Amino acid sequence: MKRLVFSTNNAHKLEEVSAILGNDFEVLGLRDIGINEDIPETGKTLEENAFIKASYIYEKKKCDCFADDTGLEVEALDNAPGVYSARYAGEQCCAKDNVEKLLSELEGVENRKARFRTVIAAIIDGKKYSFEGIIKGVIINTPKGEAGFGYDPVFMPDGYDKTFAELGNDIKNKISHRALAVKELDTFLKNR
Ligand code: IMP
Repeated sequence: MKRLVFSTNNAHKLEEVSAILGNDFEVLGLRDIGINEDIPETGKTLEENAFIKASYIYEKKKCDCFADDTGLEVEALDNAPGVYSARYAGEQCCAKDNVEKLLSELEGVENRKARFRTVIAAIIDGKKYSFEGIIKGVIINTPKGEAGFGYDPVFMPDGYDKTFAELGNDIKNKISHRALAVKELDTFLKNR
């Protein structure tokens, strides 16, 4: 079984990604390889941040690895919050603060189109690759649903009449930006 290191300590993300990559790969998290520090995300784009995180692992361990970075891109806000999605309402903010700021920025705005975009940067046999997953939808006016995290209560994917937070993780994990990006990685790895 091939080993791949995923630049995360989030058990939920590790599980989600392992489920897609299947039995051919053993996916390890940062703690499993003795990296306990937070890797600074100083990039100005999702691509830069994903490569910063993957390169950090590769420089230390010289192993096959990958990292992801995700942002919510809102059309009427020139693709903000984008790479700053986690700290849209400030460095110490929580998800609720971010959602409130987003809704206030969109007050009275008719164009509610948005998309989640995940970029995965992978370093395999020392070579760099990138993969992308996008899901389009709209930002609704009032948060709905309890599941998920981040902007899930206000993001309604195209083709559904429920938010990600109402759809729940089983459905979300099948159609999400992150799942689509991991599937691209999976296809690449299996066809090498
Ligand atoms: P990360 O790159 O996965 O850490 O995501 C950065 C930020 O984007 C998170 O802190 C959330 O605010 C937002 N985000 C990422 N993925 C999702 C999602 O699936 N649903 C809602 N918000 C998300």
